[in-house]
Amino acid sequence: MSYESPTIRPPSEWRSGLLRVTRGCNWNRCRFCGIYPHLGQPDYSIRPLEEIFDDIRLLAEKRPDIETLFLGDADPLSAGTKTMLRVLDEVKKQFDPTRITSYARFSTLYKLGIVELGTLAKAGLSRIHMGLESGDEKILIFQRKGQNAKMVRTVASWLKECDIELSVYVLLGLGGQERWQKHARETALLLNDIQPDYIRIRRLFVYPAAPDGSPPCPLSREISDGLFTEQSPEGTILELEMLLDLLEPMNAFFTCDHSNNYLNISGQLDTDKTEMLQEVRTFLSLPEKQRNQRYQRTGSGI
Ligand code: SF4
Repeated sequence: MSYESPTIRPPSEWRSGLLRVTRGCNWNRCRFCGIYPHLGQPDYSIRPLEEIFDDIRLLAEKRPDIETLFLGDADPLSAGTKTMLRVLDEVKKQFDPTRITSYARFSTLYKLGIVELGTLAKAGLSRIHMGLESGDEKILIFQRKGQNAKMVRTVASWLKECDIELSVYVLLGLGGQERWQKHARETALLLNDIQPDYIRIRRLFVYPAAPDGSPPCPLSREISDGLFTEQSPEGTILELEMLLDLLEPMNAFFTCDHSNNYLNISGQLDTDKTEMLQEVRTFLSLPEKQRNQRYQRTGSGI
């Protein structure tokens, strides 16, 4: 019996017990993404329940003190509510968790509907991490994200009603140099509408060919054809400044919690927004040489 770990997890789940319900991504079409192929998981599948149960028991043997659990890979709820309920039930037989978190896609939750989400919440699902990426419809269509602002608003309101925390990722650079202001503005407006619990900032990483020979992410093609111009490091900071400036001081934790970010600011938007914005502006006022050193030091990665 060997334990199978999710391909990736959010940085905030470093202490959690990690459970793999599905493998890879059931969508796998976002133009900017190549994460699962890049990490050796190009295909999607739902793991057999017995395998998942074995992993839950193994985890319980090795780490009986686990307080929080995280479910992967990209969209475990795509396994269906019945499967998820059995997984959550087995988790609760073995642990007494204070939180059970999952990655998910807005479109999957939209298909499930509020009743099934309520059932999952009652069974213990308490936080969901999803890629919002952008609030701009044109960017979402171009990047083939498979979601739109209306769907995001609906799902976010269901999650609030079901008492499931919402943690969203925003991807700086997703509009390229062509559309960065629209990207920052529309994303801020959508976030102001949905008021998530967490806003996690990431920076676009254009996936190269994977070690197993899988091709680079489709966006590379648009870049080489001149249809998309990658955001500059300084432009990325200007996006961050505009986004933060337009966000309402809501009860949400804003964080750049990935090493790929040039600035690692974080804080509560309702109490720390001014300070965070000041941090960005102080950086922008540094001499060019110092700013460039930061950009070079940070580099690019996943
Ligand atoms: S961004 Fe998320 S939904 Fe899109 S292909 Fe990548 S893992 Fe799948």
